[in-house]
Amino acid sequence: MRLIFEYSKAGKEGFFVEEEEGKEIIPENLLRPEIEVLPEVSEREVVSHYLRLSALNYSVDWGFYPLGSCTMKYNPKINEEVASFFTEAHPLLPEELVQGYLRVFKELEEALKEITGLDAFTLAPAAGAHGEFTGIITVRNYLEARGERREVVLIPDSAHGTNPATAALSGFRAVEIPSDEKGMIDLEKFKAALNEKVAALMITNPNTLGIFEENIKEISRLLHEVGAFLYMDGANMNALLGQVKVADLGVDVIHLNLHKTFSTPHGGGGPGSGPVGVVEKLAPYLPGPRLVESNGLLLWEEAEGRIRSFYGNFLVMVKALAYIKELGGEGLKEVSEIAVLNSRYLRKRLEKKFKVAYPTETLHEFVLSDETFRDKISTLDLAKRLLDYGFHPPTVYFPLIVHGALMIEPTETESRETLDRFAEAMEKILDEAEKDPEVVKTAPHSTPVGRLDEVGAARKPILTWTQYKEKQD
Ligand SMILES: *Cc1c(COP(=O)(O)O)cnc(C)c1O
Repeated sequence: MRLIFEYSKAGKEGFFVEEEEGKEIIPENLLRPEIEVLPEVSEREVVSHYLRLSALNYSVDWGFYPLGSCTMKYNPKINEEVASFFTEAHPLLPEELVQGYLRVFKELEEALKEITGLDAFTLAPAAGAHGEFTGIITVRNYLEARGERREVVLIPDSAHGTNPATAALSGFRAVEIPSDEKGMIDLEKFKAALNEKVAALMITNPNTLGIFEENIKEISRLLHEVGAFLYMDGANMNALLGQVKVADLGVDVIHLNLHKTFSTPHGGGGPGSGPVGVVEKLAPYLPGPRLVESNGLLLWEEAEGRIRSFYGNFLVMVKALAYIKELGGEGLKEVSEIAVLNSRYLRKRLEKKFKVAYPTETLHEFVLSDETFRDKISTLDLAKRLLDYGFHPPTVYFPLIVHGALMIEPTETESRETLDRFAEAMEKILDEAEKDPEVVKTAPHSTPVGRLDEVGAARKPILTWTQYKEKQD
């Protein structure tokens, strides 16, 4: 891949403007005086250059993307189409003029209540982590209103890093609970850590190992006994849709990731949505504004503690509602069944040559350790080599409790053929590790750039022409 500057040849031109005229047409803030010589290229070259650039990124539309925990699944384009109907209204329009829009909020709240069995939702949070913060702050507000002092939030060692971060940001102390040999919360250690200082346990279910927390009802009973709450990180909801209402498991608060479970492609920092659902007694402590219905009109009612400007990422909600309505209850149930089936199929195939971290049966994702290859190649080598076979690698080195972890989530949108091709590529790389480890250790070979200095790229990114020039000099 060449820079556009490298196509330049004196005298080539595309769209023609006189210099003086150009200054009038192009706004000052878009002029780049620091670039002394602009490339001279034809319009045709500009178009093909940027078209090629646009295809350099791997995406959920491009191919298999088994990034565990993230649920990077294909999302039906019809939902984008539906969202495009709703791009006009300004959030400051009077409620009477946007009843259709407010109906979308209302219907989505109702659908999420039905799916989870919880009593009230706020749709405001902009992502999962933001939802966690909102949910834990809701618990804190409840406790403060009752004059209760509780300092601790319990978090299993398999948790996503945002969980302890949320606890700390919300003014609690995160206390880690180890997993047992089955990959579940160690019940005895949990009991030992539980006391009147505990505000909540944050549980992910199924957890990041893809394992259903069998003792969740016992855990919620014990928490409730000491007046603490059960927070569920709902990022893995595509494993449970239509199978169980989390309220029946004793969950008091949940966040859902609409951009994982309900049809918004994510990654790359696009808009997300992390609705938070709660049981009745926490409902008054959810942040405002809250949607209320009065004489058939939907209205926003101010409540304390706004956590986001306006009402959240509306178009993500439209897509989620479209997805839920298309599939219906039976369809959503099928989503989780196929997600689990695909994952178990792939696990069985890979188990022949790879070691699954915990023997326990898994739901929609599973985690391999590096046990069968660590003496020849690293997890990173394997992940990079997968790029040469046309696959996005799985999540690597997470969860932290598994050595050299590869966390694989095929999702429900993949065909059996794709799963087979992926398994074959994984096995082929093991073969290569045996016969020709160098080719794996230096991968990828087919991508525009090879191994990157990832730390350098994060710490000292080169984002402007000036920085690039300085680096060259
Ligand atoms: C993705 C994820 C989060 C964070 O959600 P964001 O929407 O990325 O902020 C939290 N917990 C788990 C288990 C996740 O997979």
